[in-house]
Amino acid sequence: LLRVAVRVAAEREIPLTEGLTTALDCWRARPGEIFTLVDGAGDFHRARLHDDEGRRVLIPFQKFSVPPESPVEIVVYQALPEKERFELVLQKLTEIGVRRIVPYVSRRSATLDERDAAQKKSHRWPEVLRRAAYQCRRGMLPELAPVLDWSEVLAECAESELRLMFYEGAAGWTLKEALRGQRPERIALLVGPEGGFTPEEAAQAQGAGILPVSLGGRILRTETAAIVGAALVQYALGD
Ligand code: SAM
Repeated sequence: LLRVAVRVAAEREIPLTEGLTTALDCWRARPGEIFTLVDGAGDFHRARLHDDEGRRVLIPFQKFSVPPESPVEIVVYQALPEKERFELVLQKLTEIGVRRIVPYVSRRSATLDERDAAQKKSHRWPEVLRRAAYQCRRGMLPELAPVLDWSEVLAECAESELRLMFYEGAAGWTLKEALRGQRPERIALLVGPEGGFTPEEAAQAQGAGILPVSLGGRILRTETAAIVGAALVQYALGD
C-alpha cells in the first residue's frame, strides 16, 4: 500500500505526473498495480494504475471511509525533547488519536536558541504526522502548534475544561483518580522535559488550575510519559 494526498473524489483519472510519482514512491510500478490514496477529506480510495498509450493514470475504483475521530479532544503539551524523541512522540500521538500537539520550552528543556533551531528544522514534523496518519488509517492530521514558551502554554491550557500535568512529584492524585467521573470535550495534558518541571513551574501550573497527577511509582522518560498518558486518557474517555 502506498500513500499520497490527492484530490481523488473530484476526478475519475489521476495522471501520474513526475511529482505524484515521487510522492507515491512508485517509479517501478506496473500497470495493474493497486494504490491506496488518501484524499485529505477523511476518505481512502483504492486506485489501479493504467497505461493509456504511454500516459500513465491512476483510476480510483473503491472508496472507503475511515472511522470518525475520538469524541474527546486530547491536547498534549510536550516539553521539547531531542529530535528523535520528539518525532517518536509525534508519530505515536498521531496513532493514539491526539487532536493537537504543542511543543514548548521550559526551564529544564531546550533553551530559546535551541527552540529556534528546532523550529527551523521542523519541516520534517508534518511529514512524520502524515506518514503516521496514513499508517494508522486516520483521516485527519493532528494540529501541530509552533513551539510555545511556558507562559503561552499556561494561557492556552485555559481553553481546555480538564487540565492535567504529569508530575512525578504529584502527591495524592493518580491519573486514574483524576479521570474518574470526568467527561470533558477537551483535555490538556502537560508533559515535562527530561529534567522534569521545576517546583516553581509546578506551582504556577497549579495556580492556573492544572492538576498534577502521577503516572505511577516509576519515573518515565518524557516521551514514554506522553505516549502512555495520552493512550490511557484515550482509553478512559475517548475512542
Ligand atoms: N526530573 C525527573 C527525575 O529525574 O526524577 C524526571 C523527569 S521525567 C524523565 C520527564 C517527564 O515525564 C516529567 O516531567 C513528567 O511530566 C513525566 N513523568 C515521568 N514519570 C512520571 C510519573 N511517574 N508520573 C507522572 N509524570 C511522569
